[in-house]
Amino acid sequence: MTTQPKQHEVLAKAVSFLNKQNREPRVAHILLQHHLNVSRAAFYAMMRDPVPEHVLDAFINDIKKHAETGVPVQHLTGQATFYGRDFTVNEDVLIPRPETEEVVQQAITMTHECAEQNRPFTIVDVGTGSGVIAITLALELPETTVYATDISQAALTVAQKNAHQLQAHVTFLEGDFLQPIIDNDILPNLVIANPPYIPSTSVAALPDTVKHFDPACALFAGKDGLAAYRTIMAQSKDIPAPEAFIFEIGHDQGEAVQSLVRQTYPASDVTVHRDLHGKERIVTAILHKSTD
Ligand code: GLN
Repeated sequence: MTTQPKQHEVLAKAVSFLNKQNREPRVAHILLQHHLNVSRAAFYAMMRDPVPEHVLDAFINDIKKHAETGVPVQHLTGQATFYGRDFTVNEDVLIPRPETEEVVQQAITMTHECAEQNRPFTIVDVGTGSGVIAITLALELPETTVYATDISQAALTVAQKNAHQLQAHVTFLEGDFLQPIIDNDILPNLVIANPPYIPSTSVAALPDTVKHFDPACALFAGKDGLAAYRTIMAQSKDIPAPEAFIFEIGHDQGEAVQSLVRQTYPASDVTVHRDLHGKERIVTAILHKSTD
């Protein structure tokens, strides 16, 4: 009779396999915990327990699939963590990145600065995807009103499911960036977006985990990667000027996005912020209403 391998042995083997395949070893931890269907604390407390055969089979299957095809671990588990909460994800939405948590943090800080007490404050997240930005803001800033748009109905289905699961009050509207906001006469105080920003010419340089699995419409924005910012800036002229914009940007787009915003709103205070890795990641703009 063969004895079932212990959890720490299974993990060590998978970690070493993933390392050899140039994949991230932490994927083994996430997948094994997922297939065991236990909490993180329980997972690390039961390292000496044998892994049941059916769990082992499913785990090995997924580890191989990930190593061979680059399918993201979040697609295998159907979940991604963002700002401490679990979100449902699938191939219809961009998998949330940790950098975007910093964009949300910035939005929370700016909302606290902009929103005087006891007045309605409306936030619009354009191109919401899985809804992580809008839902997190609605939960962290319950006194605000949050709208979110996306051109993809499939993405909105995922976002709506997430809002429901996390009990967040977000109104989702289908359409291109700010268009549904214009059509519905919504007056945003703050516009936030993590739009597509990768130049279409850079597709070859992307890892397989991204280029074969994240939706192209969430990644690419014209030859220079700036098409989405141009559209949003142009559309914003069809609504009363909001008080602020926050954009996630690519690491080399700070100057370009800054000047795009300044062209549209010459009197605005535009700042490029770096992320925890020191890369340009966020552009914020505070608009001066009196001159715009
Ligand atoms: N940050 C994502 C990546 O580098 C791109 C997402 C986007 O274009 N907004 O994979």
